[in-house]
Amino acid sequence: MRRAREAGIAHIHVQDLREFTKDRHRTVDDRPFGGGEGMVLKPEPLFEAVESLLGRGIGEAGEKNPLEPGTAIVLMSAAGRLFTQAMARRYAQLRRLLLICGRYEGVDERVAGHLATEEISVGDYVLSGGELPAAIVLDAVTRLLPGAVGNEASTQNESFSGQGAEDGPRAATIVGSGEPRALLDFPHYTRPADFRGWKVPEVLIGGNHAEVAKWRRQEAMVKTKRNRPDLFR
Ligand code: SAH
Repeated sequence: MRRAREAGIAHIHVQDLREFTKDRHRTVDDRPFGGGEGMVLKPEPLFEAVESLLGRGIGEAGEKNPLEPGTAIVLMSAAGRLFTQAMARRYAQLRRLLLICGRYEGVDERVAGHLATEEISVGDYVLSGGELPAAIVLDAVTRLLPGAVGNEASTQNESFSGQGAEDGPRAATIVGSGEPRALLDFPHYTRPADFRGWKVPEVLIGGNHAEVAKWRRQEAMVKTKRNRPDLFR
């Protein structure tokens, strides 16, 4: 991320919500309507922070105010859709990506409904804030930007980079074909060829490129079946 930033490939700005509070205590949260545990992030500072970054208003109920294309406003949420490599690829095409981080018990639902263009989760577990999830998304996206990773091919041929790993419903042709939606990466080895008696597979040392490619495909399949059987469903 630092390399992408320094090379001018990505500009990353962190916005403090408290700049958009108006009271003496710079309050960003309040008690939940309906009662219950915890505090909820108020909508005003979030809407105003995003509007200030966009340089335009979002409007109010009943108004249609489409965002300019090339911009996404993403709410980090344990209750969101699971973040995938396909989404990272889509975000990498955007001109501008705004990530909203929650805290406490969560965020006023009007943010998900009328400010964010999507709501995503980085995994089936609950963290205490959206900052780490946002850093995960930023990392996954910036490494896909042209010129950000030393070797371009290294992002085209890795876990989840397969054709089937798309957003949304699976293509009908893939269902039941015995092919996974996405193939995990194949195992990598480097020197020494013999480490404490654990040897590098012979085929990788032989120099037969077709055999190597075949072995890698097989091993990627074995690993996908073992670690991620859900990718075959
Ligand atoms: N009450 C919420 C959890 C709130 S955690 C629930 O049960 O779903 C506080 C904040 O941390 C959230 O608003 C969100 O921004 C962030 N967060 C926590 N877990 C996350 C996850 N798995 N993915 C993305 N964001 C998450």
